[in-house]
Amino acid sequence: MSLRLDNNKLKTKEIELSQKILRGYIDQFGYNESDILKKLRNETSQLGPISIMQIGAVQGVLISILCRLGKFMNCIEIGVFTGYSSICIANSIPNDAKLFALDNSKIHTDIAQKYWKLAKVDKKIKLFLDDALKTLDAFISNNLSGTFDFIFIDADKNNYIEYYEKSLLLLKPSGIMIIDNTIWKGRILDETDQSKNTISIRKLNQHIQSDKRVTHCLVSIYDGMTICIKNE
Ligand code: SAH
Ligand code: CA
Repeated sequence: MSLRLDNNKLKTKEIELSQKILRGYIDQFGYNESDILKKLRNETSQLGPISIMQIGAVQGVLISILCRLGKFMNCIEIGVFTGYSSICIANSIPNDAKLFALDNSKIHTDIAQKYWKLAKVDKKIKLFLDDALKTLDAFISNNLSGTFDFIFIDADKNNYIEYYEKSLLLLKPSGIMIIDNTIWKGRILDETDQSKNTISIRKLNQHIQSDKRVTHCLVSIYDGMTICIKNE
């Protein structure tokens, strides 16, 4: 029994180690990060442990590629933090496109606004500083349903299902939605983890799986990212 436990512990350690090595390799060869994004990552790391909320650089490039391909005109980001993902999106959409950026933290989005200017994307972005559910409801009651091409969801995990449902309503047919942290460091697999956020992400993953309104794939990049396209 104890031997088995030790073996399992060893296995977990091995997995952690191989993930670390793989992450190291990806960080060396998997992408190039612009100087502004590097500077933003450094400044964000000075905020302490919460800096972990920032998306991974390799995700940022994948989002940029998708945005360049899609030439999205009307975009929403739910969860801005210090601005890393919003810069990836805004940098990659046409000059006359718009990104509505939703967050309820002035402290964090002050940093984002500084970097939007540095990255020269500030004119493409409109910040909505309020509870994101309220902002999305305002969009819906202002007849903006079915008008967005792209939505990135990365705010509080507890509201993920509501963000998903409201986003689906706001998206055009064939619009793209990306949801971050859908692997949640593997905690979605751990039945003993009954914390609110884990339950919420687990529920959303199951919900999307049986949702005929979208075609989706869960990409095991960084902390997991689900890409959905709204079916016609
Ligand atoms: N996409 C960002 C990371 C987002 S972190 C990046 O690339 O760096 C999550 C963000 O969601 C935080 O900035 C937090 O302030 C915001 N948030 C949490 N709950 C929220 C709510 N109810 N309404 C709006 N924003 C919220
Ligand atoms: Ca995230």
